[in-house]
Parts: sequence; structure tokens; C-alpha cells
Amino acid sequence: MSESNQADLEEFTAGTTTETVVQTVVLDLETSQQKTERVRAGVEEFQAMAGYMADMMPSIPEWEWSPQNNTLYQMVTREFEDRTVKATTAREAAQHVAESFSSWRSRGKDGNRPQFGGGSYLVLSHQDFELVENERGYGLKASFIPYKPVWFHIEPNGYQRDYLERIFEDDADTGSCELHVEPDGSVRAHLVVKWDVEVYEPADVTTTVGVDIGENVIYAAAVVDGDDVEDVVVEPGREFRHYRERLEDKRERLMEQGDLRGVRQTRGERERYTEHVLNTASREIVDLASEHAPSTIALEELTGYRETVADPIHDWPYAKLQEMIAYKAKATGVPIEMVDPENTSITCRKCGQTNREYRNGTEFSCSRCGYEIHADVNAAINIAQVEKT
Ligand SMILES: [Zn+2]
Repeated sequence: MSESNQADLEEFTAGTTTETVVQTVVLDLETSQQKTERVRAGVEEFQAMAGYMADMMPSIPEWEWSPQNNTLYQMVTREFEDRTVKATTAREAAQHVAESFSSWRSRGKDGNRPQFGGGSYLVLSHQDFELVENERGYGLKASFIPYKPVWFHIEPNGYQRDYLERIFEDDADTGSCELHVEPDGSVRAHLVVKWDVEVYEPADVTTTVGVDIGENVIYAAAVVDGDDVEDVVVEPGREFRHYRERLEDKRERLMEQGDLRGVRQTRGERERYTEHVLNTASREIVDLASEHAPSTIALEELTGYRETVADPIHDWPYAKLQEMIAYKAKATGVPIEMVDPENTSITCRKCGQTNREYRNGTEFSCSRCGYEIHADVNAAINIAQVEKT
């Protein structure tokens, strides 16, 4: 490791704190009619037990509303003597309801009391599920029925695979796991995953990655330290625009032909493609910040202007991309700052002059100092340099 890297690293570790990131991952499980029926039966019992417990809670003294209270669990097992699910599942139902009620109480009983019984999920106790890695990839063993575990193959997408890898590399722990049966009969696991990240204090950091999202390009990012621009990345998104336009044309054609199924499919295709592009873009931005660590990412506070502006890339999901950046940054330990974007797109980053006319599409040209630059890069640099409050 070079000397300068060493110095950076020391600076990096000087102001860090450890934070636990908690994230729920929704996993698609490969199921059969028989497996789905078993889960559905388990869900029905779990919901009946939770509904019963919720009805009983108002008649139980509040100081007994604790998830650890065994009396609640005994009430459930007495009432549901003929249940087919395990006692541990009944315990989960009691704890699940008690947790909700005690948190409702700690919120000053704001709103209606918690309702249970109509849900489409069951909660697996920690000892009743196991994630395994096998020749087919990943699997989940759910043991909510005595002596009859139900095995599922997991079909993870890109980011879900990341989490599973984290778990098997022992970088992450699992929290609770819920099994959900969807109306169409598909079965999903909602798995809580927790891991620790080192987060450095924004106060110690002088490098900022300013991000300008989606006026002409998918994003423009500028790595700025004081007055030095260290790096610039622009993701033009031409391909993205063409593809979306093609899908839009296709959708209109199918609409005219009255092919509603085709319209739905096209919409689904468009959503998946957008999701993929958002995932890639947010990953690139967070990677850029990591390469320049320690750094913070500056994003624009979304204003009414942003939400209502006529969008050249068709309903570009600004908020969604920001959310994904913020989420991935948190998982990596990079702090995020939201800044007021006022005038950042029409101010010359060289001389500081603000003039709406300097900006023309992707071109920014300052007639005061003669500076010329890609308009979105100019905006990204300004966003990085906005005074932090
Ligand atoms: Zn200028």
C-alpha cells in the first residue's frame, strides 16, 4: 500500500462509527401446488391465532403486553389445541401481536389498535428456518409443521443474490423470516438481513460526489474536493431513451389493436428494464464514491419544480433513483447529503454568475467568463459545492 493510501485510510478510520444496516429482502420461492397448500394452511392457522390474541389484548393489563410474556403464548396454545403448526409458530403469533401492541402503546396509542387475522403470511421462528447453499444455488427449509419441513428452491435476482452471498460469507446475520402467499399462489419469503458497516462522519470528509439526475442524461456525477474537480462521469442514457420509446410505440400499437394482455406485458417489460437501469446507475454512483473514499454523496432535494417539470426521458423516476442511491450508499457506509438545488443548473461553476440563458440543452456556455461545459456536469459540480447546512 502506498504512503498516500495509508494516510487516506487513517483519515478514513479516524472518524468512523459502526452502524447496523437492517434490510428486508423479498425472495421468490419455487413452489408446487402441494407446498403452496401447506403454506396456505399454516398461514390460516397463524392468522387465526394472531387474530385471537389481538382480540384478547385489550382485556390483558398493559404491563403484560410484552413479547417475552409466556402467558400470552400459553393462551394461544390452550385455545388452539388442535393446531397443526408447531408450538414455536404459536409462540411467534403471540409475540408478533404483543410486539405490535407494545409499540402502539409506546406511540401513545395513536390511531386504531393493531388489527390481526386477515394477513397472508406466517412468521417463522428463528430455529424454524434454515438457508442452505446447494448445487442448485440457494434453498430455504421452513419447519412450521412438526417433523415435516417444507423445502423451497430460491430464485434470486441480482441484488437478492448479493444478500444471500453476504449471509453465507458470514458478513450478515438473518433476523426474522415471514412466508407470504400471494393471491396468485406464489410464495415469497420476507427475510430480514442485518450487517454492520463502518460509516464515516461527514464532518471529516472534504470530498463530495455531486449528482445531477435525469434532465438530459440518466445522471451526471462530479467528484469535487474544494475547488478541485477530481473526476466526472456522465451516463447519457441514449439507449435507454430509445428502448423506452420503442416500448411506448409498441404499447400504443397494441392498445389500438385492443390487445390488453400485450399492453400489460409491455408495461411489465418497461418496468423491469427501468428497474435494471436504475440499479446499474445507482451502483455506479455509489462505486464512484467508494473509489474516492472518504467521500459523501450530495443529492438534490426534490422540489415541486422537479416533480412537475416536463420530463424529456418520459416519467423518469427521480425519487426512485435517489432512494436506490441512498439505500446502496448506506449499505456501503457512504453518507448522503440532501442539498437545495436552486440555481445549480443555471449558475456558471467557474465564475458563479447565474443566468438562465447560459444553459441550452446539454450545453452550458457562460458569456461572462467564456467557460463552456456539459450542462449536467456543470450542475453536478455545483451540487457538490452547495454549502452544507
Ligand atoms: Zn462564468
